[in-house]
Amino acid sequence: MNTVLYVVIPCYNEQEVLPITSGLFLNELTDLIGKGKISDDSRILFVNDGSRDSTWDLIRKLAGEDPHFLGISQSRNRGHQNAVLAGLMEAMPYADITISIDCDGQDDITAMEKMVDAYHQGAEVVYGVRSSRKTDTFFKRTTAQLFYKLLNGMGVEAVYNHADYRLVSSRVLRAFADYKEVNLFLRGMFPLVGFNSTSVYYERHERMAGESHYPLSKMLALAFEGITSLSTAPLHLIMVLGCLISGLSFIGVLWAIIMQVLGRTTAGWASMVCILCFLGGIQLISIGILGEYIGKVYLETKHRPRYIISQKTWEEAEPVHKDPPPNT
Ligand code: UDP
Ligand code: MG
Repeated sequence: MNTVLYVVIPCYNEQEVLPITSGLFLNELTDLIGKGKISDDSRILFVNDGSRDSTWDLIRKLAGEDPHFLGISQSRNRGHQNAVLAGLMEAMPYADITISIDCDGQDDITAMEKMVDAYHQGAEVVYGVRSSRKTDTFFKRTTAQLFYKLLNGMGVEAVYNHADYRLVSSRVLRAFADYKEVNLFLRGMFPLVGFNSTSVYYERHERMAGESHYPLSKMLALAFEGITSLSTAPLHLIMVLGCLISGLSFIGVLWAIIMQVLGRTTAGWASMVCILCFLGGIQLISIGILGEYIGKVYLETKHRPRYIISQKTWEEAEPVHKDPPPNT
């Protein structure tokens, strides 16, 4: 089979887990090559996302040991989404299909075979979907479910329980490359591209080693990015809320006038304060949401690069020895 597969793996400070999972990735790749499902030109492409530990050295060592391993390094840490994008764009000219997967072994590596099979049966995007969330804490499970419901409610087409374990054909990738936004939420963007898609179900495990780089704060940031990058529903909600509150205020004013006419007014200090606080809060939230969108517009207008690759394992630069300037 001539299908060239590039497995794109973002890595940020993963020196503990990489020695374990790199072998598993290679096994899966050679297994698929052996079964004739992909070409021997297929590669495992690690994307070092500005790690501060020895991750990049490990990747270079792997690339030296087996030609199936490749690596690129970002010029600094840019976050998981940008790292995946950098890998996908780098792989695009060489690959017929790409699979993006985390490097910590949490996603079932053997599900790649089912993804490749689905591609051969005609799917151009194959979403890896978690069959259950048994390994998650109660908190993560419920917040994740809430998040997907919220996303769908806001009109974002995100596949339920799918993160960034995904097969994409080069045709889809080329179409995706035209989505130039810098605010990235890949799992919500690929459904926008269209083409034939399907899902493959797998069990998600615990991390094999090392620690998660997604604390609650980063998770919330990604959730927020997902909503504000792909939906303008919150802006609409502000308007609806504003109309509702104006209506209520109008009733309140009528009520106050009637009470005044009937001469039953009291020193309503408490109710005044409550109303002021409530309205103040709503106004601040509304301005905040508007600000978020304006901030996004600001970032988009700059057209800054979404990733910068500083090194590639197959283009290892020799140290540059410049000639000293000639004596004058
Ligand atoms: N990652 C990255 N850049 C970052 C943070 C994470 O490339 O700034 C990578 C990380 O190495 C891993 C994947 O993104 O391969 C998912 O991160 P992690 O496993 O820490 O998140 P979790 O699975 O706990 O949500
Ligand atoms: Mg993980």
